[in-house]
Amino acid sequence: MTEGIRDDMSEAEIIAGPSGVTPVAPDSGAVNQGLDRIPARTLDRVGPKIAERLERLGIRTVQDLLFHLPLRYQDRTRLTPLPEIEVGVETWVEGEILESGIGLGRRRSLKVWIGDALGAGLLLRFFYFSPQQAAALKPGERVRCYGEVRQGPQSLEMVHPEYRLLRPEADEPIAACLTPIYPSTEGLQQTSWRGLTDQALALMERTAPAELLPPEILESMKLPTLTEALAFLHRPPVGTPFQDLTEGRHPAFARLAFEELVAHQVSLRRMRLEQRRVSAPVLGGDGGLRERLRASLPFRLTASQERVVAEIATDLAQSRPMQRLLQGDVGAGKTVVAALAALQALESGCQAALMAPTELLAEQHHRSLSGWLGALGLEPVWLAGRHKGRERDERLAAIASGAAPIVVGTQALLQDDVAFQDLGLVIIDEQHRFGVHQRLKLREKGGGEDGAPHQLIMTATPIPRSLAMTLYADLDLSVIDGLPPGRTPIVTRAVPDTRRDEVIERVRQACLVGRQAYWVCTLIEESEVLECQAAEDTARQLSECLEGLRVGLVHGRLKSQERDAVMAAFASGALDLLVATTVIEVGVDVPNASLMIIENPERLGLAQLHQLRGRVGRGSVESHCLLLYHAPLSAIARERLGIIRDSTSGFEIAERDLAIRGAGEVLGTRQTGSIQFRIADPLRDQPLIAEAQRAADRLLVGYPELVTPLIDRWLGEREHYGGV
Ligand code: ADP
Ligand code: MG
Repeated sequence: MTEGIRDDMSEAEIIAGPSGVTPVAPDSGAVNQGLDRIPARTLDRVGPKIAERLERLGIRTVQDLLFHLPLRYQDRTRLTPLPEIEVGVETWVEGEILESGIGLGRRRSLKVWIGDALGAGLLLRFFYFSPQQAAALKPGERVRCYGEVRQGPQSLEMVHPEYRLLRPEADEPIAACLTPIYPSTEGLQQTSWRGLTDQALALMERTAPAELLPPEILESMKLPTLTEALAFLHRPPVGTPFQDLTEGRHPAFARLAFEELVAHQVSLRRMRLEQRRVSAPVLGGDGGLRERLRASLPFRLTASQERVVAEIATDLAQSRPMQRLLQGDVGAGKTVVAALAALQALESGCQAALMAPTELLAEQHHRSLSGWLGALGLEPVWLAGRHKGRERDERLAAIASGAAPIVVGTQALLQDDVAFQDLGLVIIDEQHRFGVHQRLKLREKGGGEDGAPHQLIMTATPIPRSLAMTLYADLDLSVIDGLPPGRTPIVTRAVPDTRRDEVIERVRQACLVGRQAYWVCTLIEESEVLECQAAEDTARQLSECLEGLRVGLVHGRLKSQERDAVMAAFASGALDLLVATTVIEVGVDVPNASLMIIENPERLGLAQLHQLRGRVGRGSVESHCLLLYHAPLSAIARERLGIIRDSTSGFEIAERDLAIRGAGEVLGTRQTGSIQFRIADPLRDQPLIAEAQRAADRLLVGYPELVTPLIDRWLGEREHYGGV
């Protein structure tokens, strides 16, 4: 279908470098009466403006400043003699100004030639300069500068080096340690950072921050103390290997990453222990309803579905609450597993609730469950934010009386007026979109006299196992591997939007032979209104180009009846092309649809792209997905689109995505307030995780007094936010 479409990212121009590192800084924790109690604004040269900028990075105290680690380092401990400088190397040099002047080539620039006694030279070039600068850089002055050496048209040069004129009377000393470069924000220069951290380090010599890892653990891990590690990382001595520091391998760095991992483990264990203390209703069930559902299914469960069904069934029959994460790729068949779990609760006389992050997804679950359970005479009730007045009251009454055995809904289920008669099982779909606090809140609604309800959390976000162990150490893990049989892999290609016409032509050809297609519109802005508008415009434009084809439109601002009608028309084949916003990420299942176009795929996360793409490839014909990107792509965007093109396994995509980006981004947790790391990186620091788990146990047993300060230091308000 897409033979004529060459996969092509070559038109993309690479924008240099991975930048955009998000600066992070720990919250102040109530550890002791020390540096965490000294406000940063008490430091020299910190006025209200600087204080406000520091605050923007989460830095309020001297201790926060100490935990604000350099991003990288420069070696300014050694001046390189001019004859030894090399192209591409950041270098610290010194010389006498031989000549300077304003050149008027293609671009006006200030050119300053420096040289040494032996006649070797270097050109310093400035495109932006003040008249004062030009006047100060006059022949005879000595200058010391730092920058990357480049090959210029006539000679070696440095463009916009950092420089300092040397005063003849006093030769200024060369830096005694590597120069740290800090993650910063607008209006804070590196020189300010160095000044601030100098002061903080001096204070640390008098009052050390509390050491929260016991010596026995540090010794067995051969890690430095906190004070040693911080002092080292801010001012590494001459000769420290650069790579080790910036890539997080140095023991000083590992020490901090390790402490953070331990803090997370301790917090998760504590949560888990608290959960264990609670009882839960024993939901053995007699298997009757489950048997009837199985008999009515048009398919047999796969071996891995059977395995997780059994794991869940065992947990539900215990008298303490199940806390289980059910992982499975898009289309792996998690819903039927959830339905079986719900029936087990019903067989035992309890209610079950299923919570989804969006109305569309909740509606889709409601539809699948109605289909399966309606046949058993069980009608699930569903509750969304838009149910108001009498409609809502009726539903609430059914939930409260137990007349509704299965309830499906959005966050609306968390509202205070939603009371269950006897909630035994809570199923949460797409956990990563909910914060931990929401998960716990739903738990509070159930259990009655028997304690807390059981919880099953389903996610299609393929979290690598190592990461899952770290992030969800309070949960048990069940994984459905692979997809049910009979699916054909999707072929994915990246195409620049300059070839949009060609892509539209492919859509026409596909539809002419009886296939159906999706066209997904995305926008940068998190604005639903604009996104819907873009989809409307695209639908109009595509209907004009594709005369004779039937084009439908769905987006999040349509009334659900309208949306249902369009979806039903598409599902029945009455529409050829469905233009949609990312709302179709969930809730659509049309096997005849075998082509998907995704506009601006570079704006979406890989997990979301993978989810979207999962809407095709549900039938037996080969499906195609075209990623219609807008050039120029940044280097990272290019790499990411390459990943999605080359792999159809959600797990592999996540692993590779994780390798090029931070863990928080892979999971899309930025909005949800669930776990993020400040210094640790679960992939890079994988070797430390098992040790961190052991250390966490050791702390809980042997050093209970360290537990709360540790959690406060690294998770701050976040754990309290989690409701523990
Ligand atoms: P997800 O895990 O993404 O939520 P679903 O539960 O929506 O996946 O399942 C995707 C599709 O696969 C549904 O149409 C479902 O009925 C079907 N399905 C589930 N299990 C099986 C199976 N064992 N064999 C065949 N089809 C299955
Ligand atoms: Mg699903």
